[in-house]
Amino acid sequence: MTEPSSSAPSRSAAPTVVRTPEELAAMRPSLGEVVLVPTMGALHSGHRRLISLAREKRDRAAPTAAHGSATVVVSIFVNPLQFSPGEDYDRYPRDFAADLEVCAEEGVDVVYAPSVEAVYPGEQIVRVDSGAMGRVLEGEFRPGFFEGVLTVVAKLFHMVQPDMAVFGQKDAQQLAVIRRMVRDLNMPITILAAPTVREEDGLATSSRNVYLSPQERHNALALSRALLAGADASVTGPIGIRSAARAVLDEAAEASPPVVVDYLALVDPETFTEVSSDYRGEAVLAVAAWVGDTRLIDNVPLTL
Ligand code: AMP
Repeated sequence: MTEPSSSAPSRSAAPTVVRTPEELAAMRPSLGEVVLVPTMGALHSGHRRLISLAREKRDRAAPTAAHGSATVVVSIFVNPLQFSPGEDYDRYPRDFAADLEVCAEEGVDVVYAPSVEAVYPGEQIVRVDSGAMGRVLEGEFRPGFFEGVLTVVAKLFHMVQPDMAVFGQKDAQQLAVIRRMVRDLNMPITILAAPTVREEDGLATSSRNVYLSPQERHNALALSRALLAGADASVTGPIGIRSAARAVLDEAAEASPPVVVDYLALVDPETFTEVSSDYRGEAVLAVAAWVGDTRLIDNVPLTL
């Protein structure tokens, strides 16, 4: 495993591992333009897609430089602030050695993996409020979730000082709320989005998929099937889209174990409010559901 080092990263070598904000601050002037990919680790093909977009941006910024005037930084931090009591913070999958291997394969320059104490040395009194758009859908079913996400993302932005940051469409509401934070708080950072990566059978890749038994995993396919049914009905407008998706989920509610839906929503991608029945334009069809003890989310962008 790579030892922490404050030397400038080398693109062909294993990533440089940084553990503290102080170490990162000391290194920051040597990093040039930074593209940040924030993650909670347990890296999979979805994260790889984000990293490859970051790498493209890096390589475009410095096509000929040996040590580059641009750097890809992946942060790995399971953020306690975004988990409610009783959620899966303690059992969330953590495998730093495997994550480092993925980052090396993907040509990441720096892995920033601070401890909880380094990120939260004391009580986090001041937090970032997501406003109304973070209190619907995910925010309704996971109170405090977006406050925790925005607070840690803002802290990471201040620690890493990236020029760009990459997030996944998989967490569409999170992406929208982060874009809004950057705009409303004048953060000089360009937010990039990468499309959702799926397994061959349609299940969106997720660190939480490891919780699923084979039968649960099979039943979980109802989420992507519902979204696909909604997308196929997109010419019929919002009412047709919602009912096509709902029909798939209603059937899955009868399965064993059942798929228990938290919400199915067709929303404006910027505000995450439900669109009206005569809406035309860009929309997101989003779903969250429990399969056994595992909560899954998925969505598909649509043009109506
Ligand atoms: P996480 O480690 O789950 O917090 O996710 C870190 C980033 O990876 C977030 O921006 C997610 O939206 C993104 N991500 C997670 N799963 C996928 C996926 N299947 N496809 C694309 N992006 C993803």
